[in-house]
Amino acid sequence: MNWWRTDATHDPALTCWVEGAQGHADFPIQNLPFGLFSPADGGPRAGVAIGEHILDLTALAEGGLLPAAVAVACREVPLNALLALAPADRRALRAALSGFLSDESRRATVEPALHAAGDCALHLPVRVGDYTDFYVGIHHATNIGRLFRPENPLLPNYKHVPIGYHGRASSIRPSGTPLVRPKGQVKGPADEAPAYRPTARLDYELELGVWIGAGNALGTPVPIAEAARHIGGFCLLNDWSARDFQAWEYQPLGPFLAKNFHSSVSPWIVTPEALAPFRIAQPPRPDGDPKPLSYLWDEADQSHGALALELVVLLETGRMRQAGLPPVRLSHGPASNMYWTVQQLVAHHSANGCNLAAGDLLGTGTISAPSRDGFGSLMELTVGGKEPLELGNGETRGFLEDGDTIILRATASAPGRVSIGFGECRATVLPAR
Ligand code: CA
Repeated sequence: MNWWRTDATHDPALTCWVEGAQGHADFPIQNLPFGLFSPADGGPRAGVAIGEHILDLTALAEGGLLPAAVAVACREVPLNALLALAPADRRALRAALSGFLSDESRRATVEPALHAAGDCALHLPVRVGDYTDFYVGIHHATNIGRLFRPENPLLPNYKHVPIGYHGRASSIRPSGTPLVRPKGQVKGPADEAPAYRPTARLDYELELGVWIGAGNALGTPVPIAEAARHIGGFCLLNDWSARDFQAWEYQPLGPFLAKNFHSSVSPWIVTPEALAPFRIAQPPRPDGDPKPLSYLWDEADQSHGALALELVVLLETGRMRQAGLPPVRLSHGPASNMYWTVQQLVAHHSANGCNLAAGDLLGTGTISAPSRDGFGSLMELTVGGKEPLELGNGETRGFLEDGDTIILRATASAPGRVSIGFGECRATVLPAR
């Protein structure tokens, strides 16, 4: 089954009886993302976002309303089993949910399982086994590389290998959890000796997160043509970074304490099925770029493997919050500025037989557009802090200050389709401890 196939659940004419769901910017009935939530009067359970409400999947499963093949997974928390569902089972669940929420005659049965989202807490949706961060945003890689190597920003391996490193799963937190400014070892070029102090160069990184669904056995690579079957969903990911720690520690083994102190994810798992109408061709490689090795190359992946997603970064400073001012937009741009598709990341990660498991998280790496209005980090926007941003209220920023809130958003759009969104990935910087 092609992962870009659409069906009745994507019909733009489909309506929903839940108040406020029609025309909702993120969660109309065509989306139906999964999450882990606690209602005001209960513990964590599986849910589906619909408008400003959450439908209690666990209650539907307990009530015998869901297909038998998925009911067990919907009663398990956190949602690793739900994430691991085969695409056909996930489609059956999606069809059932779409029917419940569009058919007025099912309203009396389903409505008791609806909660106002504002009364609920959202959690990290799954137990994250492993976290890997890639570096596929080619404009980001070029911008960062240029800061260090102006004549030769991209290293020779970049266009052959999806570059990545193993990150830290224990410090991943859902949107809304504040992060504490990290302390670490810093040594500037003019410093005689390193010092241990709070980072002065705290940055965000705008990334797409990929949730692994079905895993693969150790020793058994995932073929590129099957890679999409191993992806259970998508989220937004903010890979917070301390640039001063990074500059001092990263050689020769790569990122370490500059990256592992906190990573934020949006709490809703947007399914591959919800994104089917928004599949687009991977942008062709520029003339002269090497063709990838065959284990990374699949014609269907090239023709349908990218996503028509618009990504946005907003900043709300403490002073803006006090003055009642709205956040300012720092950047916006398409997710298609990725040199490799997410399927290529799955195929590459497992190419040596490394086993992926349900609940593993892959970050794409910072996604920047070619022009400044689409740069996905402050490191790029401010040229390493040398050109601070004017925020319009008299404030400027080179890097983030305590009290600053970074908000990531994503919207998928296509002609003739109802747009869907990811919800927010938001976190506020707290002072160092
Ligand atoms: Ca990153």
